[in-house]
Amino acid sequence: MQFIDLAKQQALIKDKLDVRIQAVLSHGKYIMGPEVTELEDKLKAFVGTKHCLSCSSGTDALLIPLMAWGVGPGDAVLTTPFTFVATAEVVQLVGATPVFVDIDSETFNIDPQKLEEAIKKVISEGKLTPKAIIPVDLFGLPADYHKIEAIAKKYNLLVLEDAAQGFGGAIGNSKACSFGHAGATSFFPAKPLGCYGDGGALFTNDDNMAEIFQSIRVHGMGSDKYDNVRVGLNARLDTFQAAILLEKFACFPKEIELRNHVARCYAEKLKGKIKTPSIPENYTSVWAQYSVLAESSQHRNQLQAKLKDAGVPTAVYYPKPLHLQTAFKHLGYKYGEFPISEAISECVFSLPMHPYLTEEEIDLISKQF
Ligand SMILES: *Cc1c(COP(=O)(O)O)cnc(C)c1O
Repeated sequence: MQFIDLAKQQALIKDKLDVRIQAVLSHGKYIMGPEVTELEDKLKAFVGTKHCLSCSSGTDALLIPLMAWGVGPGDAVLTTPFTFVATAEVVQLVGATPVFVDIDSETFNIDPQKLEEAIKKVISEGKLTPKAIIPVDLFGLPADYHKIEAIAKKYNLLVLEDAAQGFGGAIGNSKACSFGHAGATSFFPAKPLGCYGDGGALFTNDDNMAEIFQSIRVHGMGSDKYDNVRVGLNARLDTFQAAILLEKFACFPKEIELRNHVARCYAEKLKGKIKTPSIPENYTSVWAQYSVLAESSQHRNQLQAKLKDAGVPTAVYYPKPLHLQTAFKHLGYKYGEFPISEAISECVFSLPMHPYLTEEEIDLISKQF
């Protein structure tokens, strides 16, 4: 059994992928070829934003808006400590200071009430200027954008949605990547919509911002590529990856349904055996991970060992919250400051999740509990 079975999906679309790859080989436009624009047009129609800019990774998709917004030294960017390192890494890269805020114990996403308290604290301390919020759509579930956007408005902050795991999720009819001032996603192979290498995309409704993002994506270009109006990056999506994504995207809406079917099967079969994820009403998760909560880290070890013996791979996302990572030691956080993130990181683990997981496999997994 695979944790994420990319081979099953590939077998279904292999012929179409081959045609797409051959098309790139014959036109030879390896950088910003026609597949890149075709993909961006399809993605923005799906998300419902005015602009989509593909880029080289989810990390660059997070970095570009911070650069465009001029976030830098002396600025505070509020985010969650229970996420992949890239979320806070980009804040550090532009010279700003990550300010962590604990998560909600049910959704594992940033807690809006604690977010507002943290903003007030930063303001009253007077050392940093709150500039932006990076909520994360952890495990595929959108954060509470209704509350977060209201708080951002109140304190005049920018919101950058880290939808690296969230592309395909929704709140009501509003799709992930459409929240806040800009939305960033990743096409790393293991994400719900993944390519066969690194890739990412940025979404916004703001024409002005889109233009700056585009400039930063290609070395801060101005009217042409030898007119440089700012310092930027080399952060384009490869034409080959765009070609692969076009075929993967064609079956993505169906796969969102299949992922939700798998999640419902898990919930049913694991009921009363272990704490399964709860999805707030009106929210759609894209199930980047199916994460359950053991009673303790010992209990987690026991369950993971039992599953392993039965041939079921599992993984821990994330064993160490960011405030306890060496890379952020200089921020001066201590164990105990974010009790919910700390407790969950000790008990959480993820089960195999992909659209082609069979009922028999889910049965076998559930029987180990
Ligand atoms: C994967 C991920 C990223 C980074 O995406 P890459 O494409 O690997 O650079 C950022 N944030 C979160 C929450 C992620 O899961």
